[in-house]
Amino acid sequence: MLWTLIKILVFVAVVVALEYAITIIAGSGENLTVIFGGYEVTLGPLQAVVAALLLFVAVWIVMRLVGLLVALLRFIAGDKTAFTRWFYRYREKRGNQLLSEGMLALASGDSKLALRKAQKADGKLANEEAAVLLAAQAAEQMGDNAMAMESYKKLLSNDKTRFVAIRGLMRQKLGEGDEATARKLAENALKLQPAHSETADQLFLMQTHEKDWSGARATLGLKRKYHTAPKDLAKRRDGLLALCQSYDLRRAGKLEDARKAALDAARELPNFAPAVVEGAKAQVEMGSGAKAAQLIRTAWAAEPHPSLAAAYAAIDPQETPEKRLKRFGDLVKKDPQHPEARMLMAELNIAAEHFPEARRTLGDLVETDPTARVMTLMAAIERGEGGSDTAVKAWLAKAVTAPRGNAWVCEVEGAVYAEWQPVCDVCGSFDTLSWKPAPASEVMPEVSAGMLPLIVGALEDKGPAASPEEAETVEGSAEESTVKA
Ligand SMILES: [Zn+2]
Repeated sequence: MLWTLIKILVFVAVVVALEYAITIIAGSGENLTVIFGGYEVTLGPLQAVVAALLLFVAVWIVMRLVGLLVALLRFIAGDKTAFTRWFYRYREKRGNQLLSEGMLALASGDSKLALRKAQKADGKLANEEAAVLLAAQAAEQMGDNAMAMESYKKLLSNDKTRFVAIRGLMRQKLGEGDEATARKLAENALKLQPAHSETADQLFLMQTHEKDWSGARATLGLKRKYHTAPKDLAKRRDGLLALCQSYDLRRAGKLEDARKAALDAARELPNFAPAVVEGAKAQVEMGSGAKAAQLIRTAWAAEPHPSLAAAYAAIDPQETPEKRLKRFGDLVKKDPQHPEARMLMAELNIAAEHFPEARRTLGDLVETDPTARVMTLMAAIERGEGGSDTAVKAWLAKAVTAPRGNAWVCEVEGAVYAEWQPVCDVCGSFDTLSWKPAPASEVMPEVSAGMLPLIVGALEDKGPAASPEEAETVEGSAEESTVKA
């Protein structure tokens, strides 16, 4: 309101000032004398103002004519659209204006308006691709896949817009769930711009979904080459991919290549249990138990894991329980109080029939970390010490309701796995599993009830003295059955 009033006042003031100025010029009586090429012209005050305006118009016309001349010269020099551009320059100006309005509309989320502006700008611009691209993005934002695809396809033929077009088509195919075509498009896009980090990430994820480990390793290689991935992350992923390759090669019976890949993985991920287990397996197969033991000891010192203990046992499968106890003493000596170390040593003591020692080793884990595995070990100790059926079953009953203990848990949505795997089945992410306490779940009591006959059977059939193999069976089955979600 106030602003409108100010504008009216300013307008009135300008009109009054102009009127006053004209009155002064007309009344001043001074003439302007111009000498031009020997002619002398004398102009009155008002005539001088008119002459200045005419001069201004003349200069403008000359400028336009010079522009036309330049366009003509360009046309002669081979610029075929120079003439039409000169004649339609206002059209192009309008096109550019529509384009910028459309871009603003797109940025503010009004895709319908953006599409309308794009359609109006189409044909008005020297650079037609800009309008097509705007239309494609507006259609994409609106969810009109057919129109988006059609627009992106138009952009494929131009070198400058081909990369954007391929990426647009890839997004459409991903939206449709056609990952096979999307993957081919991503490969093509990456050929055009190998340093493009986002495309490389998308291709990498699709390759891991397809279990194309060598393809994923090549894509990771590009990210390393162009420094678009943090060094540590790239190293970790390369190690994980080598591990996946070793699994596949082993399944395919190519043992020598499998071992090579496993050793690569263990070298790149010396603290990651699944990689070290495969690396140690390779070393044992190549006849070097000492190197295998060294790999496992390093990884255990960083983070104890039951699969490392199993691999350590596999170095010498024939040894007596006593010898095994002694050898494992080396493994756990750095941190014998770690719960994983205590459960392991308790289990080995049960196997060697040192039941009181097993109970002592477990110590207060029954209170501080009462997992299903601890309860199961207590049942075995109770049985070994000649305890009553009631006492044994009481421990097993506690195992049913106890927390599961550690498992491979997806950081994204908490899916639980007994064995490590590279890609989560639920969310499809790569490398999101970590070894940590599994969340409690309603299905657990049933699952654990399923494992009870196994344990009771094993303990009752073989009598109180369970052999080392059976102790491991008990441990293995407890682990597997508690974590399968
Ligand atoms: Zn997941």
